[in-house]
Amino acid sequence: MSGDVDVAVVGGGVIGVMTAHEILSRSPGTRLAVLERDAVGQGASRRSAGLHIPRGATPRVREMTEYSEDFYRRLRAADPSVPVTPLPMHVVAPASAAGPVRERYVRTAAPAPVRELDAPRVRLGPGEAAWRVAGCQYADVPALVQWLARKVRHRADVREAVAVTGVEPAPGAVRLRLGTGEVLTAGQVVLAPGPWTGGPAWRDLLAPLEVRVKRVVALHVAAAPAPGDGAVVLEEQDAFLLPLHERGHWLFSYTSRQWDVDPDAPPRGLTAGQLAEGRDLLRRYAPGLADRAVSGRVFCDAYSPDRVPLIQPVDGDGRVLFAGAANGSGYRLAPAVAAAAADRLAPARRPDPHRERSDR
Ligand SMILES: Cc1cc2nc3c(=O)[nH]c(=O)nc-3n(C[C@H](O)[C@H](O)[C@H](O)COP(=O)(O)OP(=O)(O)OC[C@H]3O[C@@H](n4cnc5c(N)ncnc54)[C@H](O)[C@@H]3O)c2cc1C
Repeated sequence: MSGDVDVAVVGGGVIGVMTAHEILSRSPGTRLAVLERDAVGQGASRRSAGLHIPRGATPRVREMTEYSEDFYRRLRAADPSVPVTPLPMHVVAPASAAGPVRERYVRTAAPAPVRELDAPRVRLGPGEAAWRVAGCQYADVPALVQWLARKVRHRADVREAVAVTGVEPAPGAVRLRLGTGEVLTAGQVVLAPGPWTGGPAWRDLLAPLEVRVKRVVALHVAAAPAPGDGAVVLEEQDAFLLPLHERGHWLFSYTSRQWDVDPDAPPRGLTAGQLAEGRDLLRRYAPGLADRAVSGRVFCDAYSPDRVPLIQPVDGDGRVLFAGAANGSGYRLAPAVAAAAADRLAPARRPDPHRERSDR
């Protein structure tokens, strides 16, 4: 095939594939390639817990949250096979934090105080209160990426096991060197490398963004959720308990403080320290589950300096756009990141509408 495309998306995780889906939804005639070093959905997206918590620490993240929540709702309404499942959810925080909880959660979440936590395995700590919030859902993220990739594949050139080894902005186009020895020329490039922000092909381009990569850990709890069980978010601890109904066990996600992790370092599995840290916190809220937290998932994610996802040109010409650094929320914010990336594609590089019509 011809090497020239209008847009090349580098990285086939939830953000890259969602961005490809968004671009093609807006302009079906776009000549688009997705370049993925591994297989689509195999990076951070494969390990994602996939919880959508309807909150944001800043107005911009709340705006992205509302957009994304609505996007997933519409996607599911249009096709019930989309692997996104609505879930009841409670938030636990100090009783004195009612104001901040109301502020942080989006308007439609409408946090409502509850007398008792409607989650039999979880108990409140001293001085804590619980709120029920609306709009929560969770996804089987790898399955969602496959669902999106299926939509994209028949309209775009999705290349797996094809690494990008060089990104060379040049006048009028960007030359992408591929691990296969080929060169692909693209009018515009969206870099969506997940935690591989230090990849040699774009390390220098991305350095000014000051993205850092943090460990993300979740424990698997060997206890079956009952039908109707929902998520419990521990607001102050930035942790949550999530019933993975389709897998038949609970998941406990908690915050790790390990920074500057190399996503290519060989997996070492859970360490004794990670297991103990997670169990200690879980024991305070769900003592019956703590000792059943015996395994988990360990990977990492990209974090931006101000904890707002980055959608930003990284070359002088504005032809190379970075999209990502979603701070451990890349599933739930992917639709908003993708929409912002599509918005930033320069109009001059959008496909000619006449050609678009003739392509249909
Ligand atoms: C354990 C865990 C739990 C999580 N839980 C949640 C949650 O509950 N809710 C939530 O919203 N988010 C959660 N996240 C975060 C979320 O999963 C990530 O933010 C999201 O998956 C990032 O998507 P991405 O597309 O940016 O990155 P990725 O999925 O990592 O995709 C990037 C892709 O780029 C490819 N790539 C890298 N280098 C190259 C190259 N040179 N050439 C071509 N391709 C390349 C990689 O192979 C990879 O497939 C969690 C993350 C982890 C690790």
